Amino acid sequence: MEGLLQDDLATLSDLDEKSLLESLSQRFKQNQIYTYIGDILVAINPFKYLPLYEKAVSERYKWHEKSSLPPHIFAVADRAYQSMLGRLAMEPRNQCIVISGESGAGKTESTKLLLRQIMELSRANSQLEQQILQVNPLLEAFGNAQTVMNDNSSRFGKYIQLRFHNSAVKGAKINEYLLEKSRVVHQDEGERNFHIFYCMLAGISPDDKEIYGLLNPTQYRYLNGRYGTDDMVHIWSEKYGELCNAMDMVGFEEQEKVDMMTILAGILSLGNIMFEPTDSEMLRVTEKSSGWLKATAGQFGVQEEELLRSLTCTMSVTRGEAIRRFHNQQQAEDARDSIAKVAYGRVFGWIVSKINELLTPDVDLDVELSEIGILDIFGFENFAVNRYEQICINLANEQLQYFFNHHIFLMEQKEYKEEGIEWETIDFKDNKPILDLFLTKPFGIFSLLDEQSAFPQATDKNFVDKLNNKFKANPHFEVVRSHNPLFTVIHYAGKVQYNGSGFLEKNRDTIPASIRGLFINSVTPLLSVLFTATISRTGTLMPRKAKLLQAADDNFNSTRKQSVGAQFRHSLAVLMEKMFAANPHFVRCLKANGNKQPDHVDSKIVMDQLRYNGLLETIHIRRDGFSWRPSFKEFAQRYSILLLKTNLPLNKESCMSILNTTELHGWKCGSSRLFFKYCHQEELARLLERLGRA
Ligand code: ATP
Ligand code: MG
Repeated sequence: MEGLLQDDLATLSDLDEKSLLESLSQRFKQNQIYTYIGDILVAINPFKYLPLYEKAVSERYKWHEKSSLPPHIFAVADRAYQSMLGRLAMEPRNQCIVISGESGAGKTESTKLLLRQIMELSRANSQLEQQILQVNPLLEAFGNAQTVMNDNSSRFGKYIQLRFHNSAVKGAKINEYLLEKSRVVHQDEGERNFHIFYCMLAGISPDDKEIYGLLNPTQYRYLNGRYGTDDMVHIWSEKYGELCNAMDMVGFEEQEKVDMMTILAGILSLGNIMFEPTDSEMLRVTEKSSGWLKATAGQFGVQEEELLRSLTCTMSVTRGEAIRRFHNQQQAEDARDSIAKVAYGRVFGWIVSKINELLTPDVDLDVELSEIGILDIFGFENFAVNRYEQICINLANEQLQYFFNHHIFLMEQKEYKEEGIEWETIDFKDNKPILDLFLTKPFGIFSLLDEQSAFPQATDKNFVDKLNNKFKANPHFEVVRSHNPLFTVIHYAGKVQYNGSGFLEKNRDTIPASIRGLFINSVTPLLSVLFTATISRTGTLMPRKAKLLQAADDNFNSTRKQSVGAQFRHSLAVLMEKMFAANPHFVRCLKANGNKQPDHVDSKIVMDQLRYNGLLETIHIRRDGFSWRPSFKEFAQRYSILLLKTNLPLNKESCMSILNTTELHGWKCGSSRLFFKYCHQEELARLLERLGRA
């Protein structure tokens, strides 16, 4: 069974599904969690500490040859960094590292390890390096939460772009995608709110607790009355310390931190406000919760009366006349929850903008920067109940799978055909039809959703009826017979039943003018700013406010009027464009079992992932195919030096002369380009280096 423990599965000749599974499990049992498929890294989450990331290991993987050391996530960092600098076979180019896998498969941990190693490689100045490394704990505190799948699940997607001048890192930029705001007001069984709430409550000093008006954690409805054991409180408290430290290091100001915590405290109090009917049309706050109304108003820095009004009625203007409509109890509770969600969402968006401002590269405008992007988005999700958030998350995963397929199968096989290379086509599961089901204009799922969202009277049921009508014959769609607005999509990674309740409202995500008005007048500067982004800057703002605004503006102005779905599709499209222009590296994270358990392989769970990721097909194409395909010009330009000649014509003949001086074998020549195996890059790099030394 020697072959089964091979570091690179693409070197095995007769691998089938079963032996692939066997091979990965054998390696996993020996704590070899990383395996290559050619240039692709497969990583299985060990769910336990392994001594794989120490300083000495990090050193060993710097500037190494891939084949000389066991597969490792640090090797991916090294390859991306060297490729960016043009030290490997290719010309210098922007790079992107795409990390995929289910929730809990280890994407975020891999991201952090990659960042760390790239920082090690790039000789960053220590302050900038620290700033960049502290971004993750900060984002995780506000954007991660415990779910049934993962105790530290990312509830947003991120693309971190590290920017370099020559070999040194100069700054970073983060794009965030679709924070799951609804978690602030509701968590399913076995799940929690965002980490920050627990950390804040556990870690804040008694004095500050009083200042912020924080009370006993079990009193807060948005935390489900659930807190934690002493052990957990201890950990949260430590985390809070780390978070405050991270904020300082990244460059947040003291007052900004105070404002943020005050807003969070306000959100918690807000959640406890309950309503009851009165003799008149207007609701009132229950006697028990009147204290919470007062507390919230204080924490948000707004008038109690005004807060009550924006919770219990709406104003609309018809024919120049202001008309007041009173909320019923349900509407008032919805208004309360949407204030909480919007406030939290804006704080998060502001944090990201602020980080980007602080990490903007300090270089002249004409300096050209190169980039390594790392994509860590929420993994594919299939829960007991799947909502609007899940459909967006799963759409993103379809996009990523498509990106992978495009690079690994489509582009490559298309070039074999065009260039007359003999090739037996490898079939793969093309998910383009599923993407079309979602994105086709004007009749994809998201277009229909936007169309329905534009009608104020439309209901979620109307929307699902439309889908049923339109897609009943689509092989990737299934009609569900039910009183509830349910429908099923057959994703590349399996069938998911969605519950359409709340789709329209979440897609619209409009903030009533009264709420915006309420917050603009807040005496808490940050809160006021978060809702002022639409007001033109007249110069009358105080300097601090103007500075805060700048960060807020970035985040809100450009995307204000679109639906959430449209914004998300737009940001995905921008991301894809960026990624298609870069040189990709793939990390495929796998879960060994569904119970967060170490040392246990559940064959079915692993097999499912191998299948829908198309890993067997990937192995075949990496074994038989040619992943590096430079044009004659590209190749001759770069390697003519091996003939010790300059001014060589950049054509096929020159390429052949160059290749004849090497001992490379197994490559092929097409009509306009050469076809190499991934290992040839390393061999050529070695030749160049030897020449450099001579
Ligand atoms: P989600 O999509 O929910 O955000 P994810 O893929 O980002 O999931 P992670 O948060 O990276 O998953 O990993 C889940 C947990 O698995 C981590 O909190 C950690 O406990 C463990 N884990 C992941 N990778 C490793 C590793 N290389 N070594 C040890 N433990 C790991
Ligand atoms: Mg994650």
